[in-house]
Amino acid sequence: MSLPPEDSQVRVVLLDIEGTTTPVDFVYKTLFPYASRKVESFFREDYRNPKTQSLVEELRAQHERDASVGVGPPAWIAETDEARLVSSIEYVHWLMARDSKCTALKTLQGRIWQQGYERGELHGEVYADVPPAFARWRRQGRVISIYSSGSVLAQQLLFRSTAAGDLTEYISGFFDTRIGTKTESGSYTKIAESLGHHASEVLFVSDAIKEVEAARVASMQAVLCVRDSRPAEHASGQKIVNTFDRILSD
Ligand SMILES: [Mg+2]
Repeated sequence: MSLPPEDSQVRVVLLDIEGTTTPVDFVYKTLFPYASRKVESFFREDYRNPKTQSLVEELRAQHERDASVGVGPPAWIAETDEARLVSSIEYVHWLMARDSKCTALKTLQGRIWQQGYERGELHGEVYADVPPAFARWRRQGRVISIYSSGSVLAQQLLFRSTAAGDLTEYISGFFDTRIGTKTESGSYTKIAESLGHHASEVLFVSDAIKEVEAARVASMQAVLCVRDSRPAEHASGQKIVNTFDRILSD
């Protein structure tokens, strides 16, 4: 099954990662626990690095926002370097426990994962149908881009180190929440503009129905990708696939 008749219009395939190119388990059972284990050693080893200092500053600003809306983050004490460092570590663990998607946390996780990939302790995971789909879409002259709530750096590290090799060569654009959240249609409009294509020439693929709907509001084509065997609980009229083999097949 291919997805005519709009197929011929598609110039860009825009892909979500978690639950779409990559098992959700990879993120929750491999990446997140790895980052959590390494937060303290990362800050202690790298505290003097100006990039780490600016990240601490970003965390402090996020902490101020959280405190002002009364969600009760742990205290932030900045009287000494050590107190500031300990406050950063505790606040990061608090954000992780809430599964926060804030940019400062994503940046930190991206940097910890970078070290993990560089040290050979982490390898990116994709479903088996992903590498052949990338090759096929490329052969068809289509552009492949990624839009994920993980940072651009984290996205690149994942696709660079898969069992099928470096897949970043196939990918022309990476977008994260710096362009906007994934459930807002405005984010998809901005991505299409940034790619230099009309939104209707972009096919977005995600396992999250709210993201698929937001992309459609922005006039993108969109397909819901359901990777596991959850019962069909989705709204009728949804285009649903469970493998990339069925997306823009030859
Ligand atoms: Mg997803």
